[in-house]
Amino acid sequence: QFPFGRRLPCDIYWHGVSFHDNNIFSGQVNKFPGMMETVRKITLSRAMRTMQDLFPLEYNFYPRSWILPEELPLFVAEVRVMKDSDPSWKPTFIVKPDGGCQGDGIYLIKDPSDIRLTGSIQSRPAVVQEYICKPLLVDKLKFDIRLYVLLKSLEPLEIYIAKDGLSRFCTEPYQEPTLKNLHQVFMHLTNYSLNIHSENFIHSDSVNTGSKRTFSSILCRLSSRGADVKKLWSDIISLVIKTIIALTPELKVYYQSDIPSGKPGPTCFQILGFDILLMKNLKPMLLEVNANPSMRIEHEQELSPGVFENVPSPVDEEVKVAVIRDTLRLVDPQKKKRKDAQGNICLCLPCPKGFTEFPCSYREGMKDKQHKHHSLKLSLKLKFYLKLGSCLRLEHVPESSESLLDAVPAERPEPDAARSPEAGLPSLCLKQVFPKYAKQFNYLRLVDRVAALFIRFLGVKGTTKLGPTGFRTFIRNCKLSNSSFSMAAVDILYIDITRRWNSMGIDHKESGMCLQAFVEAFFCLAQKKYKSLPLHEQVLSLIEFCECHLAALDEKRLLWGWG
Ligand code: ADP
Repeated sequence: QFPFGRRLPCDIYWHGVSFHDNNIFSGQVNKFPGMMETVRKITLSRAMRTMQDLFPLEYNFYPRSWILPEELPLFVAEVRVMKDSDPSWKPTFIVKPDGGCQGDGIYLIKDPSDIRLTGSIQSRPAVVQEYICKPLLVDKLKFDIRLYVLLKSLEPLEIYIAKDGLSRFCTEPYQEPTLKNLHQVFMHLTNYSLNIHSENFIHSDSVNTGSKRTFSSILCRLSSRGADVKKLWSDIISLVIKTIIALTPELKVYYQSDIPSGKPGPTCFQILGFDILLMKNLKPMLLEVNANPSMRIEHEQELSPGVFENVPSPVDEEVKVAVIRDTLRLVDPQKKKRKDAQGNICLCLPCPKGFTEFPCSYREGMKDKQHKHHSLKLSLKLKFYLKLGSCLRLEHVPESSESLLDAVPAERPEPDAARSPEAGLPSLCLKQVFPKYAKQFNYLRLVDRVAALFIRFLGVKGTTKLGPTGFRTFIRNCKLSNSSFSMAAVDILYIDITRRWNSMGIDHKESGMCLQAFVEAFFCLAQKKYKSLPLHEQVLSLIEFCECHLAALDEKRLLWGWG
């Protein structure tokens, strides 16, 4: 432990709460810059809303949410319209203060007029969300799932999911919300930190009884009742991938600001805690993402009033030790060195169509037949990007014929388990889901491409906001202004949107246009230019239009540079 920081370079830095040290120039850090901000309740809700606007069906796993106080009038109006159109709809809403955790400040309401406007809401923004009234019950109790997800790399995107998680139980039998029971936190909120104070809390040494159990024990029970557990896992994997796709644009902006490309810096990875609720019909719903999930493997037991003792918690130990052990195995710098020494990286590639042989630079590494054989088995796809003949960029995407259904956790030996020093360790509990299933999800990564445009025009390294000149250059370089959209109109668009976003602003440190404001401006331009298409097609068309103009510009610049 280095509470005051450490200057000697390390292979892995394990930060307690967040990425906070800009003086690291190599190695790997267990936190991404900006992750805490990105997964806060309000920022997550905004990111999910953007994706719901683009892909409503794909993102229906996140409850309808509004941001308070700014969207209070919208919340009131939308609920009124929905109630008018369906008088039998008797909703309940849950109000959650931004930046809160462990159930802090959360309450349920039946009507928008019940929002407590005094004090807390105005001083503390919040998210109000449709309450899921019909959760799946086990032993008549509501429970949620905490799943651990490793974001191993942002660029290229690499995601792993732990094959077991925790199920955290309420301690009062569940009833659908009524005015009478709305306040009963032990019935409605599954937080361990709350329920531990209930006299009904059961601390068990077994993983399949008590108030905290393994998720696999729940799956076993569901499976014995005939539930389609394979489909459930596949839905959960899809939820995780889609959520991370929604978060990556913002993360990339923070990343380039803290670790500018071209300068020495560390790479990052992060363990995230996904909180998921299963509906009665087994549909998983995302509640929230935790950037700093508790890794405690002890249970705090109250011996006598006010006297606590830490006792081992086998359930936590079983799940969390495996997650940390496997994270370290996956980011192990020695493993990377061993791999490099064996020369078996990016050389194990099948010939791309149209090539009978590899170009010699690839063949050099193909040391023996075993490698060749391995290459076919891996079925890696090779993409060439030849830029004016001057440089060659190589990107390989593992292709998989497996469907998401095959991702159901299964004990499988790792390919090189026999000869590696890891041979004695249990097989990995963390399963790769991206890029493994990239093909099925890549079409959702539109905002990522908008963020790439945003980052390109940020100009000054270390910033996260776009100035008016940067925005004008973006419009000019992408040839977006014309007789019906003058540069004066461009400036007005910039000022209008930036002012509004900054007035809601959580971050007042920098002036200028933040990524979400740029995304709004981009959608606005797309709607103007491609009127008749659905929103995601409008946005895709504009992205392609911009990327095409920028590629042509880069080409010209390269030629001029050479000339
Ligand atoms: P916190 O960070 O304070 O734990 P959460 O968003 O995780 O906030 O909410 C706390 C608990 O409230 C959850 O564990 C869950 O039991 C319940 N909850 C949250 N959102 C919903 C919802 N939309 N529908 C039903 N229950 C919810």
